[in-house]
Amino acid sequence: MPEQSTQQASAARAQALDAIIIGAGFGGMYALHLLRGLGLSARVYDDATSVGGTWSWNRYPGARVDFPGGPYYCYTFSEELVREWDWAETQPDQPSVLAYLNFVADKFDLRRDIELQTRVTSAQYDEAAQRWTVETNHGARVSAQFLICAVGTLSAANRPNIPGLDSFAGACYHTGHWPHKKVDFTGKRVGIIGTGSSGVQAIPIIAREAAHLTVFQRTPQYTIPAGNRPLDPAVARQTRDNWPQVRQQMIESPFGAPFVPSTRSALDDTPEQRKALYETHWQKGGLGIAFDSYHDILFEQAANHTLADFVRSKIGQIVRDPTIAKKLMPDYLIGTKRQILDSGYYETFNRANVTLVDLRDDPIQAITPGGVRTRSGEHALDMLVLATGYDAITGALQNLNPRGRGGVTLKQQWAERFNTYLGMAIPGFPNLFMIHGPETPSVLFNMPLGAELEGEWIRDCIRYLREHRLGVIEPAPGVEIAWGEEVAEAASHTLFPLTESWYTGANIPGKHRQFAVHMGGPRYFQQLSQVAAKGYEGFVLEPEQAASVSA
Ligand code: NAP
Repeated sequence: MPEQSTQQASAARAQALDAIIIGAGFGGMYALHLLRGLGLSARVYDDATSVGGTWSWNRYPGARVDFPGGPYYCYTFSEELVREWDWAETQPDQPSVLAYLNFVADKFDLRRDIELQTRVTSAQYDEAAQRWTVETNHGARVSAQFLICAVGTLSAANRPNIPGLDSFAGACYHTGHWPHKKVDFTGKRVGIIGTGSSGVQAIPIIAREAAHLTVFQRTPQYTIPAGNRPLDPAVARQTRDNWPQVRQQMIESPFGAPFVPSTRSALDDTPEQRKALYETHWQKGGLGIAFDSYHDILFEQAANHTLADFVRSKIGQIVRDPTIAKKLMPDYLIGTKRQILDSGYYETFNRANVTLVDLRDDPIQAITPGGVRTRSGEHALDMLVLATGYDAITGALQNLNPRGRGGVTLKQQWAERFNTYLGMAIPGFPNLFMIHGPETPSVLFNMPLGAELEGEWIRDCIRYLREHRLGVIEPAPGVEIAWGEEVAEAASHTLFPLTESWYTGANIPGKHRQFAVHMGGPRYFQQLSQVAAKGYEGFVLEPEQAASVSA
């Protein structure tokens, strides 16, 4: 994979651009392509060593797409691209997705405007010039009229605040910052903290390699078999041949997936009928069991309980030791934490070399040089894996911490709660756009497709500003309040807010609770279009100063 030298940073020194894009994942790469299409100058900065965003960082064993994957989890805008790339599996693994994104970077000649291994260290808005100035860790200083933050929703790693963590003598890795070289667990005593999507994907693979694996579980999780299999060539062909229709169906579907939503309630069926339907989905694998079986699983508690009971019964059947099975059984509303897909997770606890430590009964007291000490004693370890997740959705933006009007930082602005308009813009931060920001559908919609739709909206907005000789766009005073109320209202019709999760900010100690995802799906994207059609309703637009446009 071609990797760029950091020396290229010097080329950007003192450069004036139309747009600076932060993040070279799905969102940032497409934003670059779109802005080039307008004839604008744009540059992407990313700290990683390759393009790919989350798919560049998350190289842990077992990482693979946990959404309806091949051929749906990909860029959708180019039929030519769809025809050129063959997905091998229904749930592509991390190397495949990374290879795809590198292919896209080459196909659209994106690399010449992407600076890798380059971290943006400051971003400041200059009110007089109507421009952003960005500095990088290589000393470059670049200005641009527009700042596009495509920094990822799950990119600010949560390193747990456990006493003694730094004292651990063996190798210790966070799943979100995995080394590029294969990590060899052979013959090692390995510990893993965390049983979210990352832990659940990694645990079966590490268990097969390690001498012993100790899983430190705080909250048990429902996981569904991923059902990964070779992609049926007939499905691949049919999808390609009907791509505009497939794309449109995804745009119109609640989660951006090629599901036809069910119209039946789980409570309309008899227990036997429900069990038969759930069993069919379980055997097939994938998210359909929660999103496609009945329409009310994520909306009605009684309906939700029927599926939760089914999955708990599966855990009881799969895991041979009833005491371990019980520890693995969750009690929250299924689907209201990010629904996990796995490949042999519960089965892993039948292995003789795997120990489950239930931290609810036996909490971690400290990490020592030789392992993890829980209340019941020391677990001796050679290696430790932190699958402890992320300061989701807002964390990476707050780490970037741009300064808006009056020098106010984003951390100051969002100290009590985050506020946005449409999830695309922030009051007091003119000409700043977010892709997959808080209060967009982001993680509850097909993320590549959502990034495209948001990127296209930003492209259209910038074109409008240029055509109308406008230099500034910024949310009008107060619009963020109505938007926040709408996001909360949309979530309140679902069961999601009833569960502590990273959607609500509950996974980070001290983070305020605020539901971070717009549950509207397709309706959200219609709203974006309506705002644009009404001349960017809800925004204040200011005329262009002579200095604001770079060329
Ligand atoms: P996560 O879902 O937030 O899970 C973190 C795990 O670490 C949880 O089990 C959590 O326990 C535990 N944990 C955190 N701090 C802890 C502490 N101090 N002590 C003990 N346990 C602690 O994070 P993730 O697994 O990285 O997944 C995050 C999201 O990334 C997913 O939900 C998914 O959206 C995305 N993801 C996607 C894929 C994919 O597409 N293939 C793969 C991986 C991740 P509690 O539950 O008790 O807090």
